[in-house]
Amino acid sequence: MTNRKGTTPGEADDNDRPRQEDESRGPVPCTDNFFPHPKSPREGHRRIDWYKSVGRSSSVRVRDHTCECTPTIYELCAAGGRAHIRRTERTAQGERVTESPWLRTALVTALWRDLLEGDAR
Ligand SMILES: [Zn+2]
Repeated sequence: MTNRKGTTPGEADDNDRPRQEDESRGPVPCTDNFFPHPKSPREGHRRIDWYKSVGRSSSVRVRDHTCECTPTIYELCAAGGRAHIRRTERTAQGERVTESPWLRTALVTALWRDLLEGDAR
């Protein structure tokens, strides 16, 4: 099984290593609006606890993700009735991947909606 990028799950292991510029998947032009753009965080928005990613297991499915034209992309990941949000920040130093806590899918789906609306970040 491959994810939306066509990479194999094993590649999640090198999350912490800065990548060379030419092999990173930097921001790509926004050619359509099929994928959502998170709104700017509102004042008093909910703070998500971001933890260092331990890598993605092969059973995790990406159910939704934000547009890749922005430096930071978010993915809604689910597995076995639980879900979390995965954040990838792309900087000049490389990619930094962090994850929200694993929670029941319904809770994370609500959190995902809040994130897109600027009510959580
Ligand atoms: Zn875009």
